Amino acid sequence: MNQLDRLRSQLAALDDGHLRRHRRNNDLPCAPHARVDGRDMLAFCSNDYLGLAGEPLLADALADGARRWGSGSGASHLVSGHYTVQEALEARLAAFVGCARALYFSTGYMANSGVIPALVGRGDAVFADRLNHASLVDGMLLSRADLHRYPHLDLNALAHMLESSSAQRKLIVSDTVFSMDGDIAPLADLLQLAERHDAWLMVDDAHGFGVLGPQGRGAAAEAGLAHWRLIQVGTLGKAAGVYGAFVAGEQDVIEWLMQKTRSYIFTTGSPPALAHTLLAAIEQIEHGDSRRAHLQALISRLREGLSLQRWQLLPSRTPIQPVQIGDNAEALAVAQALWAEGLWVPAIRPPTVPVGTARLRISLSAAHQMADVDRLIKALNRLEHIR
Ligand code: PMP
Repeated sequence: MNQLDRLRSQLAALDDGHLRRHRRNNDLPCAPHARVDGRDMLAFCSNDYLGLAGEPLLADALADGARRWGSGSGASHLVSGHYTVQEALEARLAAFVGCARALYFSTGYMANSGVIPALVGRGDAVFADRLNHASLVDGMLLSRADLHRYPHLDLNALAHMLESSSAQRKLIVSDTVFSMDGDIAPLADLLQLAERHDAWLMVDDAHGFGVLGPQGRGAAAEAGLAHWRLIQVGTLGKAAGVYGAFVAGEQDVIEWLMQKTRSYIFTTGSPPALAHTLLAAIEQIEHGDSRRAHLQALISRLREGLSLQRWQLLPSRTPIQPVQIGDNAEALAVAQALWAEGLWVPAIRPPTVPVGTARLRISLSAAHQMADVDRLIKALNRLEHIR
């Protein structure tokens, strides 16, 4: 068997395990309406929680930004690809989440995978929730620090691990809102543990920024937390409706990250037009209480309307509302049955979630109407009954 034959048999094995992923080509602008292969679909899969990705004001800002700054930054930030508008965005983001300074990244994946190795290295220790996002896991692996992964939200286990570590530099890392479960980490307790054990606490607020906290300032603001130990990552392609990410924290911490984060230093700066668009997006988030109120009403409606017995609606007060089905093939079959009815809900299977916990990941957006959620409720209640 040559290398190509070996790769092909590995691909075939993905099919056998129902693990092969497929992309669908959408012809319409962002959620919740989509058109795939000529079929109109109602989508429950986007992270555009506030419905900003389709907001005409932001499209205008993007076009205006492109006219003013062109299409690209031309170089990495530390060479000549850093612009005043990006500096202004960083200041706005820092103030918005209650930190001294922020560093703007091209993506959340780059922020997470780069920041961890900038903070810890060989001989240091990272403590991470088992359900953290893959980008955090990759950052941990790249750092070469000793890895301690604690069971999901098990702070006793975490405390035990911290106590038995003799590493000088310690870093606790957690998602705020867990992306496949929708539940929220107890940030105040995590910060207390970080204090007691002289550790950094890095939180990934990808799914909380814009949604949680007063005016959407995020999970740390919701918990009323501010501390030099706390390093907040936020992503800007979800509730903010654009693209990018940021890391916010104490002044010197951010300076250190700017000096040391390889995924920041060795990449082309993102187009300045995006920063211009993001400034408008933050404005929309800040004044987005009615969007957040509508989103909460949709979440309540879904949770009250689903009457599942065999499947399980996981506990979550965020726009991520997973229905756990368990078996990979069944989860896929349910997603396909929904698809046949014009409802686009992704089945999430291992390795994205633990084996035996395949699920539908319903995500709600302020762009949904109440009637959209009612349609989904009806379909799911009926399908559980039939299958
Ligand atoms: N963190 C979490 C929790 C995420 O869900 C994601 C994206 N799905 C990321 C980080 C990565 O962010 P980005 O898409 O901006 O790379």
